[in-house]
Amino acid sequence: MSNNLDITAIRNDFPILEEIVNGKQLVYFDNAATTQKPKVVLDAISGYYEHYNANIHRGIHQLAEKATAAFEDSRKRLQQFLNAPSFEEIIFTYGTTDGINLVAQTYGRKFLKEGDEVIISAMEHHSNIVPWQMLCEEKGCILKVIPINDDGELLMDEYEALLTERTKFVSVVHVSNSLGTINPVKEIIRKAHEVGAKVLLDGAQASSHLSIDVQDLDCDFYSLSLHKIYGPTGMGILFGKKELLNAMPPYRGGGEMIKEVTFEKTTYNELPYKFEAGTPNIADVIAAKYALDYVDTLGKPNIAAYENSLLEYATQAVMEIEGLKIIGKAKEKVSVLSFVIDGIHHQDTGVLLDQQGIAVRTGHHCTQPLMRRFNITGTTRASFAVYNTTAEIDRLIQGLHKVKKMLG
Ligand SMILES: *Cc1c(COP(=O)(O)O)cnc(C)c1O
Repeated sequence: MSNNLDITAIRNDFPILEEIVNGKQLVYFDNAATTQKPKVVLDAISGYYEHYNANIHRGIHQLAEKATAAFEDSRKRLQQFLNAPSFEEIIFTYGTTDGINLVAQTYGRKFLKEGDEVIISAMEHHSNIVPWQMLCEEKGCILKVIPINDDGELLMDEYEALLTERTKFVSVVHVSNSLGTINPVKEIIRKAHEVGAKVLLDGAQASSHLSIDVQDLDCDFYSLSLHKIYGPTGMGILFGKKELLNAMPPYRGGGEMIKEVTFEKTTYNELPYKFEAGTPNIADVIAAKYALDYVDTLGKPNIAAYENSLLEYATQAVMEIEGLKIIGKAKEKVSVLSFVIDGIHHQDTGVLLDQQGIAVRTGHHCTQPLMRRFNITGTTRASFAVYNTTAEIDRLIQGLHKVKKMLG
């Protein structure tokens, strides 16, 4: 397959791809759950612990200064990654879920009142449903859901019909983890702003496939996880517009997020530290920069083009399998291939593929309402990253034929 990337060289950057699983070389197609990490990221993590492990911001010794500089460097790198206007708008979190909860529990609790409406979509991950349900239950707000068509695309007319002057918040997924759909988020944001609502985008999937420009999108909040962009687990960022972050109360209380503490009253630190109580995940924040540098060295457009060619190849191939139905056929989609096979349970498919060393995800993918929309309990999902190959897809197809022979 022609592309601008040296896939063999790229594969060598990921030591885990050499693993033998059930006697076969690993084929890793569970990238929408988490991507593998290149050696530069692994080295950045161990390099911190081996050479300059120290707590940040408060120390005056050499190691603390070095760790602080690397930590803040990562923040600037993430600012650049999202084209955010300032580093103060980049809050370190534990991941996408944590960032969404932060916004619901601070912005939501302060600014939403009884009878206000929150809009999400039918294809949300549980992490962009439950925090809003918790908020709505507490405040007496109403949760509304944008429906989708059978291809897995949002019905934009229905979205417009849901928007009223009572709409205070819209929180939607940029790219669906179950379907691969890329949503028209710029239009969603523009329409929400027309009625005065704020918008959060769940960028967990989008950030590894698309270039993100929060100024161009004009989103109010953007939440993502680094572990889906070749970075470490347990860290992510929340972008928020400065005037909103400044107006929001803090989330967690503790060290670092304060300016001055007395037993009578505490004053809070400035952005972004106001939202970063306690010792953060220093090693992984530092390593995040190396993940983004790695992605930029390859070039996101090159990665996206290659992944799209893998998706196309795999889509053609699975369509030859009798009784197989693809779930998620949006015109705009990323390299996520979800499917069901007549008469064969997705879990059995997953187990039999695993026996052949092929890692896919099966089940509801943390989107139970979406599965209900399609009248299924789950799918088998193969999701592709830059280190995957058509030869690996051939193994998946062979594997599926074997599944059909054994269970079909
Ligand atoms: C993975 C994912 C999340 C949750 O991310 P965490 O890293 O588990 O917090 C949310 N939304 C989507 C679309 C995802 O793919």
